[in-house]
Amino acid sequence: MNIEKQKQDLKELLKIHWGFDSFRSGQAKVLENVLKGKSSVVIMPTGGGKSLCYQLPALILEGVTIIISPLISLMKDQVDSLERQGIPATFINSSISRIESLKRLNDAKSGAIKLLYLAPERFYNEDFSRALKDISVSLFAVDEAHCISQWGHDFRPSYTRLKKAVELVGNPTVLALTATATPEVRKDIVKQLGLENPEIVVTGFARPNLRFSARAAKEAEKTNLVLEAVLNDPQESGIIYASTRARVDGILQILLDNNVEAAAYHAGMDAEDRKWVQNNFINDKIKVIVATNAFGLGIDKPNIRYLIHYDMPGTLEAYYQEAGRAGRDGKESFCLLLYNSRDRALHEFFIKGDNPPPEAIKEIYDILLSYESDLVLLTYAEISSILSTDVPDMAIGTSLKILEKLGLVARSHEKQGSAYLKLLKDFNYIRDIIGTRAKKQLELLRGWEEKFSKELIQGSEFNFEEMAGILDMKKDTITRLVKKLSDLGLAEYTPPFKGTEIKILKRIEGEEIGLDTSALKSKLDQSYDKLDKMEEYIFSRECRQKFILDYFKDANARLC
Ligand code: ADP
Ligand code: MG
Repeated sequence: MNIEKQKQDLKELLKIHWGFDSFRSGQAKVLENVLKGKSSVVIMPTGGGKSLCYQLPALILEGVTIIISPLISLMKDQVDSLERQGIPATFINSSISRIESLKRLNDAKSGAIKLLYLAPERFYNEDFSRALKDISVSLFAVDEAHCISQWGHDFRPSYTRLKKAVELVGNPTVLALTATATPEVRKDIVKQLGLENPEIVVTGFARPNLRFSARAAKEAEKTNLVLEAVLNDPQESGIIYASTRARVDGILQILLDNNVEAAAYHAGMDAEDRKWVQNNFINDKIKVIVATNAFGLGIDKPNIRYLIHYDMPGTLEAYYQEAGRAGRDGKESFCLLLYNSRDRALHEFFIKGDNPPPEAIKEIYDILLSYESDLVLLTYAEISSILSTDVPDMAIGTSLKILEKLGLVARSHEKQGSAYLKLLKDFNYIRDIIGTRAKKQLELLRGWEEKFSKELIQGSEFNFEEMAGILDMKKDTITRLVKKLSDLGLAEYTPPFKGTEIKILKRIEGEEIGLDTSALKSKLDQSYDKLDKMEEYIFSRECRQKFILDYFKDANARLC
């Protein structure tokens, strides 16, 4: 079929399934590339309409379109809304059972579904990869593609497997989509996905309907500014971003005290609560979300009227991506950035944690070598106390990661080791103490008595993860009961070793361990440059939109 005819078909499908009359700037170009089988890196601002670039052609391509998306929580929403539009789509991630995954893969194979959303972690699973091989894939879309780059602000290691994944499914056309435009991230995406001669499609970054402002404010002033903004538009939806969970909770309390229908969102909440908050925000039942940056990636809510940053983000990329969630519907909205001179310190702390000095990395390796055994058990705090320079714990983790990449050491990725547990009283005694109301705990106790009574009475090492699997209970229930018993003096309990088991793979004495010190240094310098730019933005007197467009090297900056 010729391309012109296919383009016409796409236009009709756009009207039928989405109700839109025309393509937005950039979309038509990307669609044409897909039809020609040319891979593209698509850089469009948040709200620019990236999803359509893969959802629409999926309808007319022979095989399946695979979409990699980093957020499990959003996959289902996206698939649900596609289904409502009459488009056959499904997803596979860790929330789906093995049997159901196989069924969904079969649906993809038979052509019953056209769009298959996958979590990038799926490719760690060999059974899954094998099953995927039989599916004919026409288009491989990598959403939020900046997650592949360590230079980006949201690096996800699982994304680095995607190059292999593309090969695995027979090198179909690739679309890498992101709102992050910096040249080094762009280059990294092309390199890491192994794209040959891709076209880079960049649409303008200007968001004319957003009003940007920034101001320095003391902590005490900040809450008043937020309240003022929120109470000014009580019927409108807004997001307030803060840098830590504790600050999120603090701001939320103040809003609730002022009768604002607000809710918090951060990674410390359990998945169900987060989902609930997100859904109610999208349905306009909750007006205001106070969140850490764990909230928002990929969220498509059109009518967010204001977006306040309570603290300064670490880079303009992060800032613009978050702020850009306002006003997706094109209506006037405002973005306010509050700044306190102390904000910088937090980001410097993270930069230091991410970029240990090369000397410290070498010294950590030497410390490990000083142990005779190839298996070393040390906590970060212990390593840090031996080190000659003062390095934050986070930097020790990063150093080990770097040594791991060099093939010198390996860390055990088992989350929890074994704990020691011994019951000091018999089961009946404990049952009386627990009382009849704690149903879960009684059930657990029954399980213990049935399966582990000998070990528990004599005292033994247990892996609670494993125990939870055997008893078909939540690990939480186990740790809670163990803690209670040990607090009451009814059990002797030694928690699992919390450090890292480090295995020495190679012993290289002397200097040359292959550290690329200049790359490490340039990564560090870049992080500071970005932080400087972010700060410069706050104090800049020129048009803020122009400042941002200049930063992204968008030619339209001069039109401001
Ligand atoms: P992105 O992923 O780039 O942040 P989305 O794909 O979520 O953006 O799209 C943002 C909004 O723009 C959605 O509500 C979508 O329906 C709308 N949209 C996309 N393409 C068009 C179009 N051609 N015409 C009108 N609205 C569009
Ligand atoms: Mg998107």
